[in-house]
Amino acid sequence: MAAATLAINEARLSPFPYTELDIVTTPTTALGIEYPGLIVGTLRMYDIAATTQGGVPYSDILESTTAHEVVHQWFYNLVGNDQLDQPWLDESMTGYHTYRYYADRYGQAVGDAYFGTFAGRWEMVDREEIPIGLPVRAYQDAEYSAIVYGRGPFFLRELEETLGRETFDAFLRDYVAAYRWGISTTADFQALAETHCVCDLDELFAAWVTE
Ligand SMILES: [Zn+2]
Repeated sequence: MAAATLAINEARLSPFPYTELDIVTTPTTALGIEYPGLIVGTLRMYDIAATTQGGVPYSDILESTTAHEVVHQWFYNLVGNDQLDQPWLDESMTGYHTYRYYADRYGQAVGDAYFGTFAGRWEMVDREEIPIGLPVRAYQDAEYSAIVYGRGPFFLRELEETLGRETFDAFLRDYVAAYRWGISTTADFQALAETHCVCDLDELFAAWVTE
């Protein structure tokens, strides 16, 4: 799963910057955690015959978590951002690219089915239109997960539809190249997207990200 995610991201975004990627299992309470060149996966999800308390098979969780943490090698690591003040730049982007992993590997229908998990997250706050671009501290309790992990990918899919997939993917490649080993901000992200669409995205960003 990790190798497939690497190959898919390399084809669509940029080469993986290291000669190896380590996958470590621990009894962490999180499902997974990202580090540069290393991802952690929780031991319990390797019991693939078991299910979560919510009834989701750990075989599914193992794949989505592995793909998610590998995608972080691009968004958070290669392209850095302030993870506390603008967490959407790594978490919403990573969620969106995990959806693209499913679509690229298994076809658009499977990608769309995986995308449904974001809807489930956003439902946790009844699809309230809380901006995805707030600092971690501005979200109350369940809002952080529901908005940054749930609503965030919806914004990126909306942006993809606004630009068209081809232009959007060209923008993403350019974004990774431009901010490789650097720090990106929401303003940088919007400005570069606007140069690709040759359009004004203020209204779209206001509706989803900032207001
Ligand atoms: Zn993450």
